[in-house]
Amino acid sequence: MSLIENIIRPEVRALSAYHVPASEGFVKLDAMENPYTLPDALRAELGQRLADVAMTRYPVPSYAELKRKICAGLGVPAGYDVVLGNGSDELITMLSVACAKPGATVLAPLPGFVMYGMSAKFAGLQFVGVPLKPNFSLDLPAMLAAVKEHKPAITYLAYPNNPTGNLFDAADMVTIIEAAGDSGIVVVDEAYQPFAQTSFMPRLPEFANMVVMRTVSKLGLAGIRLGYMSAAPALLAEFDKVRPPYNVNVLTQAAAEFVLDHVDVLDEQAALLRAEREKLALALAALPGVEVCPSAANFLLVRLQQGRHSADAVFASLLAHKVLIKNVGKMHPLLENCLRVTVSTPEENAVFLDALNASLAP
Ligand SMILES: *Cc1c(COP(=O)(O)O)cnc(C)c1O
Repeated sequence: MSLIENIIRPEVRALSAYHVPASEGFVKLDAMENPYTLPDALRAELGQRLADVAMTRYPVPSYAELKRKICAGLGVPAGYDVVLGNGSDELITMLSVACAKPGATVLAPLPGFVMYGMSAKFAGLQFVGVPLKPNFSLDLPAMLAAVKEHKPAITYLAYPNNPTGNLFDAADMVTIIEAAGDSGIVVVDEAYQPFAQTSFMPRLPEFANMVVMRTVSKLGLAGIRLGYMSAAPALLAEFDKVRPPYNVNVLTQAAAEFVLDHVDVLDEQAALLRAEREKLALALAALPGVEVCPSAANFLLVRLQQGRHSADAVFASLLAHKVLIKNVGKMHPLLENCLRVTVSTPEENAVFLDALNASLAP
């Protein structure tokens, strides 16, 4: 056996690394980033704040002030705290590590966010995916059967879901949370909450086994890498034990504290993007052979009519027009011939629409 075979776990060797395509020179509509920047005056003030940060020191690991601002400003219920992560990706890792008893299972509907399955495998957990219905709603009987059979330690429900964009039925989600009961946590992943304007966060006191997870990435701060999650205090304290002590760096901490003092600016940008989402959805739905799925996120999932357009060909043609979106057609059978596009500024959306028009079969 070679060195790599001797030391690297077979499930890790079998994985391929998370692929991020090069995007320089492209209109970048593949990763649900917010296209708007902070106003110039705020940028200048932020620059000063960052210059004053004590980069020679480790962060103070309680992160008390940042947590206080998140709890107060982002709707965390009274008596509930948050655990911070280097993006919600790190929170997912922390959940996996904390729950990785031998034989433990992670459950999620598919198609869904790929990191749930990857993180489970990294931590040695079994991953079970349950297909959504063709209209991307939860298959409740199948989910309940899987909960009963596998007793998953963690069930993920993205609200709204990525890459489909829809909100699952809240009553279905509650049924799953109650079915998991004492045998598993249900993580409601609200990465797109600013665009959905609905949340399970206020319902934390109702469910002892619910974790609500969010990120500032889709809100306009993807580069600083900051996620947060909340749950009943005793449960949250267990997850905090596996958090690396200085996981949020001082620059992220300072930038987030500053931006949270001006969260109205980000809220306005989210409102603009919600309005643009409706306009873009109408424009796309008017194209022949193009179907747009209902979205509560800052992206749209588009299905191209089989036999008329090919998602692979359209994706390639968009690339030639210097527009980068995400070709999700091969991710899951339910996404056959589908593309996912981030909602952006009116200007970038127009560039995308023009390029799409030129790329669709006549
Ligand atoms: C983008 C996304 C995340 C990851 O967020 P980061 O905080 O940037 O790591 C988590 N969950 C879902 C469903 C996402 O789409």
